[in-house]
Amino acid sequence: MQLLLFGPPGVGKGTQAKLLSEAFNIPHISTGDLLRKAVASGTPLGRQAKAIMDAGGLVPDDIMIGIVRDMLASPAVARGFILDGFPRTLPQAKALSRIFEELGIRDFKVIEFAVDDEEVIRRITSRLVCTKDNGVYNRDVDGLAAGDPCPSCGTPLAQRDDDREETVRERLKLYHSTTAPIIHFYTSSGVVIKVDGAGSIDVVSREIKVLLRGSGKQ
Ligand code: AMP
Repeated sequence: MQLLLFGPPGVGKGTQAKLLSEAFNIPHISTGDLLRKAVASGTPLGRQAKAIMDAGGLVPDDIMIGIVRDMLASPAVARGFILDGFPRTLPQAKALSRIFEELGIRDFKVIEFAVDDEEVIRRITSRLVCTKDNGVYNRDVDGLAAGDPCPSCGTPLAQRDDDREETVRERLKLYHSTTAPIIHFYTSSGVVIKVDGAGSIDVVSREIKVLLRGSGKQ
């Protein structure tokens, strides 16, 4: 099974990707997580990406396409994958079509999540992350604060640099101008499954599974 998760930042793609990855036993590929790892290890890619990410911008297409091409060529994804955070631009979407053609992938689905902007801002600005195990928590839901130990590994939780309100507004602007329009690239081929991301994690997860079953994917 090959799934692309599409939607604004903070809509719950990462959370749902993890659940889907466990349910179907296929890897979750998050381009944001890959970039954050590169930033944390101080690689040349990480050094280039950090300033762009902190400002809420997009890392150049050729770099992102190269990263995704390498990931999808790996035997680890032969049985399927959940791609989260890519494509974000039309050139990325076109490149992904070529990669899918090369790999013989025809039967993929795009899960499109929708949530309104103010809810996105509320969710993202209360998000806390563990920089060690990539766990994601929410100040309001989990009753945790920045600096509290990660419930699973004890590392102090932090707010992502790009989760501050001004940066989130920039990321949303870019999402609406550049990323949202590329859904049309997929709607015409009938591969899009629309999900209301406003519900609780469990409700959204159940809805996705029902919709996937309905589309013959489960
Ligand atoms: P995410 O965790 O998906 O919200 O990604 C965090 C940041 O990584 C984004 O705000 C971008 O700066 C960068 N990024 C992730 N995926 C892409 C992509 N496909 N194209 C360009 N930049 C990306």
